Amino acid sequence: MPKIPHRLYLTEEQMPSQWYNLRADMPEQPDPMLDPGTLQPLTEEALYPIFCKELARQEMDSQTRWVDIPEGILEEYRIYRPSPLIRAYNLEQTLDTPAKIYYKYEGNNTSGSHKLNSAIAQAYYAKQQGLKGVTTETGAGQWGTALSEACAFYGLDLQVYMVKCSYEQKPFRKAVMGVFDANVTPSPSPTTEIGRRILAEYPDSTGSLGCAISEAVEKAVSSENYRYVLGSVLNQVLLHQSIIGLEAKTAMDILGEYPDIVIGCAGGGSNLGGLIAPYMRDKLTGQGGPRIVAVEPASCPSFTRGKYAYDFCDTGKVTPLAKMYTLGNGFMPAPNHAGGLRYHGMSPILSKLYHDGYMEAVAVKQTEVFEAATLFATKETILPAPESSHAICQAIKEAVKCRESGEAKTILFGLTGTGYFDMMAYEAFKNGAMTDHVPTDEELAVGFASLPRLG
Ligand SMILES: *Cc1c(COP(=O)(O)O)cnc(C)c1O
Repeated sequence: MPKIPHRLYLTEEQMPSQWYNLRADMPEQPDPMLDPGTLQPLTEEALYPIFCKELARQEMDSQTRWVDIPEGILEEYRIYRPSPLIRAYNLEQTLDTPAKIYYKYEGNNTSGSHKLNSAIAQAYYAKQQGLKGVTTETGAGQWGTALSEACAFYGLDLQVYMVKCSYEQKPFRKAVMGVFDANVTPSPSPTTEIGRRILAEYPDSTGSLGCAISEAVEKAVSSENYRYVLGSVLNQVLLHQSIIGLEAKTAMDILGEYPDIVIGCAGGGSNLGGLIAPYMRDKLTGQGGPRIVAVEPASCPSFTRGKYAYDFCDTGKVTPLAKMYTLGNGFMPAPNHAGGLRYHGMSPILSKLYHDGYMEAVAVKQTEVFEAATLFATKETILPAPESSHAICQAIKEAVKCRESGEAKTILFGLTGTGYFDMMAYEAFKNGAMTDHVPTDEELAVGFASLPRLG
């Protein structure tokens, strides 16, 4: 029997009762969101037509370091949390590495991903405010699934705009959302002005997250007693996801472990921002801290090849402007890409931290990601989501480096979810039909041309 257990679950007493707000410890704040009309920083009140009040408040609050998690949310968290911290003994052995590999596994709930952590919080606050329902978009479908569950739990109506190619490729995702009575519309759709405009211009559009966001926002602001909710990118979502890192750090502390490297996949940045939160705090407060590595797809490389600039969060240009690493709101990721990390932008908090040198980023290719995913599934008995597998891929690379250098580093990565709805991608990989699309500089230039010019 190994000295350190394979899986460590915190007790209910050890579970965090507060979220941690990274901004409170940042020496420099991310640049503020701007009103696209006036180019002035947005006020909290200006967000009220879009977000429910408490979430608008959390979005703008850069001061409060620790935020109490309401009992009504903790009750739900306790049903599927804590999530386990797992030592990947089998993977270590297979790689013949002196490195110790830990992962925090967020796939142990019906929605199959970490997204439920923020979905519950957002649905709870919407219900508290007495709203009738919420609207949202979903790309690969995990957010829509998580939010469907949360809305069903708290008794809210839900309208989901689902990126059309996912809607067609993942019929079972839609079916799961149906179990929870969510209304799912493929995007772009004729149900909104923006959807109709995009369809008129690109009748064959398979959709994008940015386009689905435009539709969901339009639907929310034009329907009484509805607000819009978003599953990533926003400050409030990173706040809710800090539960991942706080649990992970408590568990690592119990084991007497401190990571040398923390790795997470980055789509809009929510799981990564959550996982790294307490470790980033150590860095920000001058207490050392690990190397922090964001992993993104080479087909949608916001950090590694994007620009740090103000951009719209959506294709229809209806949202506020955020300063972030972005490929441009007009960037259309390759449709053959299997993972759900296809958003053009990145969390403004993580963008600022990356810009200021507090973290690193790497881009990996789709086929190497699925190679890592299948090895991991074989050795660790979990079929990982393609998104999560980006982190696995990088963790394996770091562990192999340790084998070569003989250093026994401690690696922690985020395993954000399961891949049971991604079997077409796994099949394509196994059949040898999967390709790697890496956009050329010319292709990226098309996206950059869509960046708004400010003054
Ligand atoms: C949505 C999703 C991601 C990417 O989103 P982030 O906001 O960057 O965390 C990663 N993994 C899974 C399983 C997801 O569902």
